[in-house]
Amino acid sequence: MKSAITQQTQHILNLIAKRDLNDDEKKQLIDETVDNFNAYINPGFLQYRKSFSPDYVAVEWADSGSTFTCVKGIEYIDCLGGYGIYNVGHRHPKVLKAVTDQLNRQALHSQELLDPLRGYLAKILADLAPGNLKYTFFTNSGTESVEGALKMAMLATGRRTIIASVGGFHGKSLGSLSATSKAVFRKPFLPSLHNVRHIPFNDLHALEQTLACLQFTGDDAAAVLLEPILGEGGVIIPSDDYFPGVRRLCDKYGALLIADEVQTGMGRTGKMFCVEHWNVEPDILCLGKAFGGGIMPAGAFIGSEKLWTPIFSNPFLHTTTFGGNPLACAAAIATINVLLEERLCERAQTVGDIFLNKLKSTIKPYTPHLILDARGKGLLIALEFPDTDIGFRVSKGLFQEKILVAGTLINAKTIRIEPPLTITLEQIDNVINALSKVLKEIASEMKVQLINESITKPTPIPMNNLQQTVLSRQL
Ligand SMILES: *Cc1c(COP(=O)(O)O)cnc(C)c1O
Repeated sequence: MKSAITQQTQHILNLIAKRDLNDDEKKQLIDETVDNFNAYINPGFLQYRKSFSPDYVAVEWADSGSTFTCVKGIEYIDCLGGYGIYNVGHRHPKVLKAVTDQLNRQALHSQELLDPLRGYLAKILADLAPGNLKYTFFTNSGTESVEGALKMAMLATGRRTIIASVGGFHGKSLGSLSATSKAVFRKPFLPSLHNVRHIPFNDLHALEQTLACLQFTGDDAAAVLLEPILGEGGVIIPSDDYFPGVRRLCDKYGALLIADEVQTGMGRTGKMFCVEHWNVEPDILCLGKAFGGGIMPAGAFIGSEKLWTPIFSNPFLHTTTFGGNPLACAAAIATINVLLEERLCERAQTVGDIFLNKLKSTIKPYTPHLILDARGKGLLIALEFPDTDIGFRVSKGLFQEKILVAGTLINAKTIRIEPPLTITLEQIDNVINALSKVLKEIASEMKVQLINESITKPTPIPMNNLQQTVLSRQL
């Protein structure tokens, strides 16, 4: 057994070291990957992939810029962006160089001495983040950033209740999951943190009522935890007065405002941090996803000096082994450099506007029977469909056209378009042309479907009413 594993690991190490695979190696790699997923990861994942793609065995192998390539050598335009990881693109040379240079000297830290990159990155974040945000704790993921932020809020306020929003997503570890809102993810694990209240998003009246009720009952809110734009919830953009109002209400009731910018941060919506659109200064800012430049897993949460003082006397009250490791910090420092130097926040805004306008005119002939809406801010864009079936068909069609998009986790009613901020106008046109083709195909398929149905009906529906019938059925 041991010698077999030695052999097997050596075989894989040889594969990793290779740039190009021959046809036999490709076939073997694809077959083995499918088998391994089936037998050792989760067969359900393959079923899920099937719903998005006829070629559900597409196995990814390499990436660069705004594209990735599967083992067969097919290049896909990445309009999913790893749910918001690839803001500076795939393997940006500058991020790659920083990480490789660091790797060639020291990979992880001793855990005991002072590591310079963590210090530098924290200082940079203090300069970059809004207002008084000054101290940073580094994490390995978004959910860890939220966990830490919740602990910090409890510690700083001495209060326990957390207010989060319906439609909000904050991660899936137990603490963050309590604040996440979708029943399908939460229900099997309830009760989790029992002191989380979910309120409707973009509703200041509901927030004030909840804060007032909690104050009345003595369950005072420690924090209001919100995504500036609901990402997983379907790219729901609040009205411009919402976040300023939330800030005011938090101050009135002594609750902290935690902005979960794991997805909206690092330039995605056209500003470095999304709350900057409304000049709102949160008490804690959570980062993850794109923070590691699409190369390293990295996250952080940043707070004011006042909030951090409770852990000055015991810096071990909240710790992590890998958070803030030198490779992750090198990646994050390079990422910030690239975002600023290449003006990618501004680019997200202008290119996002262009993309959204083109999407709007492309979907117009199919609205509302095939598509309800295209909306977005910067390059956080969503297409909304009347039902999940059409969403799946569009995703599937786009994948055949070598464009990756994705639903909002196991739901294709809303498809997210979240490409690297470096996506070219030419690539955007490719996406638009593909979408146009796919919509046309689906529209004609649906007409055919309807004609077939009408043949079996006693009174045939006149042709010019067909579209109308589809519409009423869907809505
Ligand atoms: C993805 C996401 C998280 C969770 O991040 P993980 O790295 O998957 O743990 C938390 N909050 C928001 C807003 C996210 O989009």
